[in-house]
Amino acid sequence: MADAEEPEKKRRKIEELTEKMAVDGGHGDSGDWDGRWNHVKKFLERPGPFTHPDFEPSIESLGFLLETCKILAIGAGGLGCELLKNLALSGFRHIHVVDMDTIDISNLNRQFLFRPKDVGRPKADVAADFVNNRIPGCKVVPHFNKIQDFDESFYRQFHIIVCGLDSIIARRWMNGMLISLLSYKDGVLDPSSIIPLIDGGTEGFKGNARVILPGMTACIDCTLALYPPQINFPMCTIASMPRLPEHCVEYVRMLQWPKDEPFGEGVGLDGDNPEHIQWVFQRAHERAADYSITGVTYRLTQGVVKRIIPAVASTNAVIAAACSTEVFKMASSAYIPLNNYLVFNDVDGLYTYTFEAERKENCSACSQVPQDLQFPPSAKLQEVLEYLTENASLQMKSPAITATLEGKNKTLYLQTVASIEERTRPNLCKTLKELGLSDGQELAVADITTPQTVLFKLKLTS
Ligand SMILES: [Zn+2]
Repeated sequence: MADAEEPEKKRRKIEELTEKMAVDGGHGDSGDWDGRWNHVKKFLERPGPFTHPDFEPSIESLGFLLETCKILAIGAGGLGCELLKNLALSGFRHIHVVDMDTIDISNLNRQFLFRPKDVGRPKADVAADFVNNRIPGCKVVPHFNKIQDFDESFYRQFHIIVCGLDSIIARRWMNGMLISLLSYKDGVLDPSSIIPLIDGGTEGFKGNARVILPGMTACIDCTLALYPPQINFPMCTIASMPRLPEHCVEYVRMLQWPKDEPFGEGVGLDGDNPEHIQWVFQRAHERAADYSITGVTYRLTQGVVKRIIPAVASTNAVIAAACSTEVFKMASSAYIPLNNYLVFNDVDGLYTYTFEAERKENCSACSQVPQDLQFPPSAKLQEVLEYLTENASLQMKSPAITATLEGKNKTLYLQTVASIEERTRPNLCKTLKELGLSDGQELAVADITTPQTVLFKLKLTS
């Protein structure tokens, strides 16, 4: 019957029923009703062939999930929306979410907790409101912040942290924060200081999920070489033997734009300016025709210029599902956690596999081994800086180098504050010897990739 009042009646009926259930068989004001958590209880209250060898089925585990366990979700975007939904439906009720972004209209195709009316509002706030309204008893606390806005005491309150981030820098910072929370007694790690980190990442049709026990298993920085620096097409390909439509766009962006300066002298290419993109598209199209390459479109041009990697909703769903499952396994101890890195790829067909990423013995983030920097005394500070940014295991972004010389802290180079940069810039051309650095000198390096300073020991080679 197509009665306009029908949905409203139905809703009220469900509400009444829910209320009744909660009073009759549930846990009072927690909004539970009979059978609400049966799907979760199946995993917690009976043994099974896949349960952890030490697992003892218990009716108390559910109570821990519902009442005690405190989860922090970082990111409320594509992965974050999926994560929050999964966690809330799995019984987690004390969830905090941190996200520094506001909602853009282009998010709405996959970030399903958001509606057109929410455009411009903070993702964290809207996501939390949505889940709290939809799932009785769940309490998501939003933080419209950067992760760097919080200190150790904030992060220490959580049992498990799950990341759905699109930035490697933010991931590394989070990783570094959890490592800084570890406490050691006589060189032995205190297990109670470990907060597990479940990290998910997606890029188009590829994704990964991993479980990190800081101080015990491979951390983000241990496997940094797995995240190669941004892939750029080789210049020779772009300049003389293009094969892909992307090569043609890159040719125009890198070579033809600076040469022609189509919008006036010194006007840089602006990916958000449709006229600029149109110009690049036309030139790239012509170049593609010269080489019989097809597929140069306006959209592709914009994608290459702005380095847009299309977000794929189904990849997010798969990775968030894997991550939420790991949170559940970790919180309940009912199953053996992922060990420790899952790869998912459905670019061509579909495959997935798991491998054990290994700890790096001298990882700059988690090894507690001082890092050696080997340079001849004649090396310039510039070379040290380049090493810190280009080394595959370090990949720092804007390292600030300080040394203690004659009992005083001396900033050798700092890029992020203009006045200090100007003052310390001459040091870059000086040799280590000229700077008064000797063999065994400790250098403290601060960078946005970590909340802690990393200590290096200078080894002067002759
Ligand atoms: Zn590490």
